[in-house]
Amino acid sequence: MRGLVNKLVSRSLSVAGQWQQQQLRRLNIHEYQGAELMSKYGINVPKGVAVSSLDEVKEAVKTKFSNQNEVVVKSQILAGGRGLGTFLNGFKGGVHIVKTDQVEDTAGKMLGQILVTKQTGPQGKVVSKVYLCEKLSLVNEMYFAITLDRNTAGPLIIACSKGGTSIEDLAEKYPDMIIKVPIDVFKGITDEDAAKVVDGLAPKVADRTDSIEQVKKLYKLFCESDCTLLEINPLAETSSNQLVAADAKLNFDDNAAFRQKQIFSLRDPSQEDPREVAAAKADLNYIGLDGEIGCMVNGAGLAMATMDIIKLHGGTPANFLDVGGNASEGQVVEAFKILTSDEKVKAILVNIFGGIMKCDVIASGIVNAAKNVALKVPVVVRLEGTNVEQGKRILKESGMTLITAEDLDDAAEKAVKAASK
Ligand code: GDP
Ligand code: MN
Repeated sequence: MRGLVNKLVSRSLSVAGQWQQQQLRRLNIHEYQGAELMSKYGINVPKGVAVSSLDEVKEAVKTKFSNQNEVVVKSQILAGGRGLGTFLNGFKGGVHIVKTDQVEDTAGKMLGQILVTKQTGPQGKVVSKVYLCEKLSLVNEMYFAITLDRNTAGPLIIACSKGGTSIEDLAEKYPDMIIKVPIDVFKGITDEDAAKVVDGLAPKVADRTDSIEQVKKLYKLFCESDCTLLEINPLAETSSNQLVAADAKLNFDDNAAFRQKQIFSLRDPSQEDPREVAAAKADLNYIGLDGEIGCMVNGAGLAMATMDIIKLHGGTPANFLDVGGNASEGQVVEAFKILTSDEKVKAILVNIFGGIMKCDVIASGIVNAAKNVALKVPVVVRLEGTNVEQGKRILKESGMTLITAEDLDDAAEKAVKAASK
């Protein structure tokens, strides 16, 4: 028994951990939008312009870059690793430094194309804009981030004197060069804190006092904008002795949307998981994952347990979905539509423990949804609790082919088996 519990706990960390990481709902904005926000705070960023058509590219080259030798052409997608990415059209690299007369040609290979990077998944993301930036002569690349830390329950600044590659790679290659400075959120950032960060960055040419000021401005932006992450990689030094945020990723806490209206107006649904966009519209707690078993569950705890037991039986969940304690039939229909429209889903597991949520409401929702969508995959249903008999009767009388299960374990086993056929 203990062995089983241990196994459950360790698996539960893998799936639940993945869920938890994403559970902090956040807004991600494009690089050019982040640069604009940083520049409002007096943070040094490269001069640039975001364009969405070849005509705009031509115009920008003529008016903004005609006196420059080279331009950095950057694909705008809401994912990192662009430099090393590849377009589905075969073109390599989502970030290029090119001669000014090559900008149009390069942008033409990016605009409207799909870029695949380490972070996008194999389906990639569409490039609707390219960001044209002045080419800086960089003498050094460092890493800088501010995030929220569970241990200190507050903002944490992470700095590394090496940068440009991902923090995961940096942590592996230079674990001793990464420094962490927790900030007391009530006191705010002190000169000593900022100096510690600058010491960790160890700039080669940038002025120390200026660098300390830049760090303080970054922290101010992080707090005032309700960021959950501000990652600058690289934080670069130019030959004119300046610290410049050459590439930044900014995430914002969804719970702050009500007081960050301007920032949240930047949301770009074309870059988000379409399943999550649909779920948000129906007010469902839904997180898309990569597995093959679609889950419809009520209650976050039960949803996590369901995902873990699926794993235990050798399957992988396609999503986290908590329909909540008092979902309407309409929401259940929407939830079912999202699961059935997901091509990766090979089986659906409905696991409802009726409390406030009544089993007959869920059952009617499933039956109604099945009328609207072509049900191509087996559905395993486990109902228990309030109005379970009515729920079971509704399902039975609908004539739908369902696999019924006795308990959670049985349900997960049947779903994994059904998905592997
Ligand atoms: P990412 O691959 O999505 O992280 O895209 P980045 O914006 O970080 O660009 C990748 C790399 O391009 C950076 O790490 C830099 O090495 C390089 N790069 C970007 N802008 C400039 C620039 O103005 N000058 C130089 N020399 N290199 C740049
Ligand atoms: Mn980068």
